[in-house]
Amino acid sequence: MNDLTCIVIGGGHVGLGALKAIKEETRDMAGGRRIRFILIDKQPGHVRKILLFRPAVGEEQIMIPWTHYSFFEGVEFIQGTVTSVDSRGKQLHYEDGQGKEARLDYDLLVVAIGSIVRQPNPDQGGIALTDLQTAADIRRRWHANLQRAAGETNPAERKRLMSIAVAGAGISGVETSAELALEMRKEASSLGLTPSDISVYLLSGEKRLFLEGSEKVGRKLDQILRECGVTVLYNRKVMQEEAGGVTLSNGDRLPVGLCIWTIGLIPNPALRQMGLPLTPDGQVLVDECYRVKGAPGVYSIGDCARIVDPRNGKADLMRCGEGGLQADRLGKILLSDLEGRPAPVHKSPSSILEFFCIGLGENRGLVWGRKWGLDMIITGKLAWKIRNLAWDAGSRLR
Ligand SMILES: Cc1cc2nc3c(=O)[nH]c(=O)nc-3n(C[C@H](O)[C@H](O)[C@H](O)COP(=O)(O)OP(=O)(O)OC[C@H]3O[C@@H](n4cnc5c(N)ncnc54)[C@H](O)[C@@H]3O)c2cc1C
Repeated sequence: MNDLTCIVIGGGHVGLGALKAIKEETRDMAGGRRIRFILIDKQPGHVRKILLFRPAVGEEQIMIPWTHYSFFEGVEFIQGTVTSVDSRGKQLHYEDGQGKEARLDYDLLVVAIGSIVRQPNPDQGGIALTDLQTAADIRRRWHANLQRAAGETNPAERKRLMSIAVAGAGISGVETSAELALEMRKEASSLGLTPSDISVYLLSGEKRLFLEGSEKVGRKLDQILRECGVTVLYNRKVMQEEAGGVTLSNGDRLPVGLCIWTIGLIPNPALRQMGLPLTPDGQVLVDECYRVKGAPGVYSIGDCARIVDPRNGKADLMRCGEGGLQADRLGKILLSDLEGRPAPVHKSPSSILEFFCIGLGENRGLVWGRKWGLDMIITGKLAWKIRNLAWDAGSRLR
């Protein structure tokens, strides 16, 4: 009998998890047929997207070679960009590394091409933390600013060069600003500048931080950020960066050397051309077992799919935690479908436990969980350790 071909598109946090789970559940066999696994991704390795702020702050390498993973043994990897899926012909189309068009036949397909970071309008200036390239640009720019500041005699200009605005105070903005403030202070000190002259402003359009949890957690986060050297400005959005500063929604102007946008995620726009059914927001339409509607053998999970708990109608957030649980469940679903058994159904993780962890620079963090209406908050070193475990779990390093 012929092999079954199972292709996973996207080796991000969720696609990688799906590959591992499907391999472990099926042990590479289904109904006496061997399963041939192929991963196709634009990138040459797994990018730890949740750590994207790290190369913006220091020189940390956040791409992991596929060969690092033991479950990758026997998996074929193709570096390419998938452009469309022909679900009738059970074939996908992609562009290889040289821009040449190619096709692949599949029996089972997992679409996990994720999301992209939302960009401001081009005339708003600044630089959005979108990928490895922009992260490296950010690092180069603040380093260059501090070096200029070290030779600057005008105190106001020196202060401006030592200031940064981070626009968008979600978890990514919070983590980016905390790590930046700590690292910039270190660098300022080594350049003979006064570390306390570093200013990192975190701009929030809301009246408090962490709308996902209670006000108390928002206040605690604000306090830890202040200790790191971050000033949170509430009810103010950045409108534009121009001529050495940012204009804010209340009309104020803040002199800064750099503005970084961290304004959330949107589903991968490549989905619009892919030929799969989408929600108006551009996420793949799936049933409660992640099967793509009207496309037999095709499944979709992670940031690119709209995953809803059928019991309470709650949609999963675009987060690694949610995606990781979907990936684990997909392994079981796929095996059940192959064996003609009833498959497990999606269950929203927040209906079990609401849980967030936030890194705030080495040995500082905040973990928040809520169960039966009770808040649990952990801060400090232990929270930092938990945060590290979560980062590693997101990249299947544990
Ligand atoms: C700065 C930042 C911080 C974050 N922090 C957190 C956090 O603290 N906690 C949390 O839970 N979540 C966090 N997130 C969200 C988290 O990163 C996403 O939920 C998670 O990455 C989703 O995983 P995914 O595999 O669905 O998509 P992605 O991680 O986006 O992976 C998609 C993969 O598909 C590949 N790909 C894309 N298009 C194609 C194509 N056409 N053909 C082939 N391959 C393609 C990409 O190269 C990539 O490898 C953060 C996101 C960012 C940007």
